[in-house]
Amino acid sequence: MSDPALYPCFLGPYGENDALLERLVVEFLRDHVYWRRNFHPEDPPAVPTHAAQTPEFMAFEARLRRELHSLSAALKRSVPFHSPRYLGHMVSDLLIPGLAAQILTLPYNPNNVSEEAAPITIDLELKVGLQLARMVGYSSDPAAPDCAFGHLTSGGTLANYQALRLALSLKAWPLALRAAGVPGLDCGSDDWQAFNLGHDARIALIGDCDRWLRSLPAGQARQWRKRIEAERVETLGLNAFFERHPQLKPPIVLAPVTAHYSWSKGLKLIGLGRKALHLVPESGMRTDLEALEAMLQRALAERQPVLMAVGVLGSTEFGTIDPIDGLVAARERFRTLGLDFAVHVDAAWGGYLSTLFREPEGGLRGLAEMRADFADFPAPAVHAAFAALAQTDSVTIDPHKLGYIAFGAGAFICRDHRAIGLLDEAADYVFSDSDSADFFQRYRALGRYVPEGSKPGAAAAAVYVTHQVLPLDYAHFGLLQKQTIHSTEAFVAELRRFADAEAALVRVSVPFAPDSNLVCMALNPVGNRDIAVMNRFVRRLYQYLKSDPKTPLQVHEFFASMTTLQPEMLGEQDMARVLAELGLDPASINPDDSGADRLVILRHTLMNPYLIDRENGISYLARYFEYLARRIDELLFLQRPLLPTCG
Ligand SMILES: *Cc1c(COP(=O)(O)O)cnc(C)c1O
Repeated sequence: MSDPALYPCFLGPYGENDALLERLVVEFLRDHVYWRRNFHPEDPPAVPTHAAQTPEFMAFEARLRRELHSLSAALKRSVPFHSPRYLGHMVSDLLIPGLAAQILTLPYNPNNVSEEAAPITIDLELKVGLQLARMVGYSSDPAAPDCAFGHLTSGGTLANYQALRLALSLKAWPLALRAAGVPGLDCGSDDWQAFNLGHDARIALIGDCDRWLRSLPAGQARQWRKRIEAERVETLGLNAFFERHPQLKPPIVLAPVTAHYSWSKGLKLIGLGRKALHLVPESGMRTDLEALEAMLQRALAERQPVLMAVGVLGSTEFGTIDPIDGLVAARERFRTLGLDFAVHVDAAWGGYLSTLFREPEGGLRGLAEMRADFADFPAPAVHAAFAALAQTDSVTIDPHKLGYIAFGAGAFICRDHRAIGLLDEAADYVFSDSDSADFFQRYRALGRYVPEGSKPGAAAAAVYVTHQVLPLDYAHFGLLQKQTIHSTEAFVAELRRFADAEAALVRVSVPFAPDSNLVCMALNPVGNRDIAVMNRFVRRLYQYLKSDPKTPLQVHEFFASMTTLQPEMLGEQDMARVLAELGLDPASINPDDSGADRLVILRHTLMNPYLIDRENGISYLARYFEYLARRIDELLFLQRPLLPTCG
């Protein structure tokens, strides 16, 4: 950590900021107690003042303490995410603003399902949606007709599911209008066209339908509304809906090979089934636009509807950034050909990197200006991907990943809030106060639009306060993200030094240049040409780097994670390069052998804020590689057959 602006942000690996957090927690716990007392101070204490002296009370407290002590003791075996020795998964220390706001809010226990249960924190959740919308470049002025809308979820998985749900709702709606026989609205001249209306046309249709219904006498309007409802996919379910539209095949979803498994889960949940998920080949770990183009051409030729194309902004395993600009361009082109689909960006991991690209005033930072801050970031393709976010339809962003917020905080944001009315469980999307101009008023019954029911207001408070203290631009929250990129650059430099120093023992390859703050590394013992042997070697090395609750924590020196790289993610050319760098025989790859069909590699997430300790002149990254070198020596020595001893 080098920037003094970041000193107070976290509790710290040594608990350096304990005094700050403790002051805040005690102060606001007391504040909460005063609030209780001042509600009706004339009410006497309901628990008698002598209660603490009763044997029951004391026995209860004793039991409670015993359990808490054993919980606290057990939790000491937790994974030390806060430590700069942790380079494993997508988690790190927690930001104090979020932690303090969450602890402060918990005893009030707001439920963000509706304003009746959360008069304060629902507004905060809606504001968080707008803060994140602004961060990615969507319209975030609640007075604007096309303002974005966002809400929190338990995580990225549910946000991705919400994206599927909304896309299906939006695409199926014009078909319902057609089937209901609504006169005078432009819903396309057949089901294919109705399903492929562009995003703007569909949004316009929502407004047009609303105005038309309002122009009718109340009784007639009610009749029409019922008729439309009866034809909606939300009413009929997928089976009956597609039975009623026999010319239309159920849609598919396109997502890159490295997409998170939440997409498969989401498709099962929504009822389209896993088979509807069509994986787009990659080259260099990113969606291959030519392959995407070919898949879209085929869909168009076969009249196969496409619900959505997913772009990943920071893949879970590799941190790679898809060409979102290319996805948007493909969507524009195919729309003119009559094939329309939603573009959703799964930015569960990389979403907060957008802060680096955002001016405090809201504009996008230029590539040259940004690159001045780094050795080699962002690559022009990465800059173009972030610049195109504003033209996508929706995004998933996880505050509980690069937002440094406690788990249980994902977010879904759609570019135009007028779409979300279609998800309204009350199903009065057309008559509910759509003339109530106040954005915040309209969405206060949040539970009607989101997949979940009861949901924690404390999580909304945590994310909101964090964004207020550290606004989502490069000069504030971006400082943290900047550090993750600097750590990545330092990591790669250490990796190169390590590779040179260990050249006699292992060959090292960085299979793909990191797009963001995740670095993978492949290692092969010198002289070995067999991929299966290399994979066993890396798995054994990983035994030293994984968390293992059975061994005492202090025995672990460093944590990293492991992943596997399939040849089809890299593409032929890059795969050949990696195999050559590692000295592997390409013929040793065997697609039918699970031990040899892919490369087992180490994976490092570099989001911890303390990886480089300038104060004490320590680089934990350098120490990590020293540790790795020691373990490799050991492993290779053990693998060498021992000379037979005399006797
Ligand atoms: C983590 C992640 C998810 C899933 O998010 P959860 O918060 O774990 O539900 C989805 N997509 C990507 C790209 C992710 O990194």
